[in-house]
Amino acid sequence: MTLEPDEAGYPTFVADEVAAAALIKRRRAPLEECRCDACADTIEGAPPASGAHLSMRGSDVRIDAPPLCASCATAIGITALRRNDLDEC
Ligand SMILES: [Zn+2]
Repeated sequence: MTLEPDEAGYPTFVADEVAAAALIKRRRAPLEECRCDACADTIEGAPPASGAHLSMRGSDVRIDAPPLCASCATAIGITALRRNDLDEC
């Protein structure tokens, strides 16, 4: 099943009517302002990356995936790789 192109002009293919309904509902929902969790800059469109916050309370583990802008995602990723390299030396 094919829907009208997305905002970037790419054709959209969905598996069935349920997926089509969910996608149409999402497209019609008002856009909430999205900010990078690291630098607080506004992110236009879908966040390009997300972080991972792990927190524990007792035996419960909670995992959050806060949005990150491309610059912060790159910086955090490179920093993690460098720290990993230093730990292996
Ligand atoms: Zn950022």
